[in-house]
Amino acid sequence: MKEVELTCPTCQTFKKIRIPETIFDQKKFGTIKIQVPPGAVCPDHQFIAFVDTKGIVRGYERIDLLMGVSLEEEAENNKSSEELIHGDITLKVLINSYGLYGVFSLIHAKIFNYPSYIIKKSETGEDQKRINSFFNNLLPDQYKATAILIKFLHETDYDKIKIKEKNAFLIDSEKNILQTPWVEKLKFEEDMLKKALDIIDNKEQLIIIKQDIAKFITEAEKTKLILEGVKEIYKEDLIDLLSSDLKISKINKYRLNLIKDYINQRYSPKLTQKIKNKVQEFLNLL
Ligand SMILES: [Zn+2]
Repeated sequence: MKEVELTCPTCQTFKKIRIPETIFDQKKFGTIKIQVPPGAVCPDHQFIAFVDTKGIVRGYERIDLLMGVSLEEEAENNKSSEELIHGDITLKVLINSYGLYGVFSLIHAKIFNYPSYIIKKSETGEDQKRINSFFNNLLPDQYKATAILIKFLHETDYDKIKIKEKNAFLIDSEKNILQTPWVEKLKFEEDMLKKALDIIDNKEQLIIIKQDIAKFITEAEKTKLILEGVKEIYKEDLIDLLSSDLKISKINKYRLNLIKDYINQRYSPKLTQKIKNKVQEFLNLL
C-alpha cells in the first residue's frame, strides 16, 4: 500500500488514502483512474482520481450521481459477490463489484462496441456469460448478437497483460480503471443510471436504461442515414432534420458529439467529416 493525498473536486476536502502497490509497480498503463467512493475522502461526494505510477495526481473527474450508503444497502453490498455467482445480477450488485464509473464504462463499451476486459485475481466462479448477457440485454435486439463480449483476464502482473486491441477498456478487481479508449465524460451513462436508480424495482431499472439506449441508437442510426445521403451538411441543418424526422426536440452539442463518436466507432469517421460548421467556415474565409 502507498499513501496518496486526494482532494475532493467538489468540496476541496483532502485526505491521504492508501492505494495498492500493484498500481505503482506497473509501467504499462501509466496514469490510472481510481474510483473514490463517498466516505473515502469526504462524506458526500464520489469522484475519480487520475494517479500516475509515481503517485502524483494528474486530475479529477466528478461523479454527480449520489448513492445513499444506508445500512440496508451495505448489507446488500456484502452479499454481492455471492449474488454474482448464484443470485440475480442487478445494477446494484454490479455497482458494488465494479464501482459506478466501472458500470458506466461497461455500458458505454457495449453501446459503442469497444472491447472490455476485467482483471480477476483468481477464479471466483463469476460467470462471464451471465455478465455479458446482463449487459447485452440492455441493447436493442438487433445489436445483441454482434456485441463484443466482456472478457475476464487472470493476470496478476500488470506489465505482462497482453491485449490485442488497442482500443480496449480495462478494469481490475479493485475497481481501478487501467485503460479507457474514449476521452469523453460518461454523462449519458451517468444520467441514465441516475434515473434508473431512483426506481426501487431491479427489473424496472433495466427497462429504463434499455429505453434510453434504444432512443440514442435510433438517433445515431438516423444520423448515419442522413450523412450517407449527402455530400456535406451544416451541423444546424443536421440537427433540424433529425428533430423533424424523428419528431424529437433539437439535440444539444453534447448529444451530437456522442452520436459522432458512435458513428466513428461503429462505422466510419468519413461520415462524420461531412458535418460542417458554419462559424468555422466563416472564420476560414477571413
Ligand atoms: Zn467532497
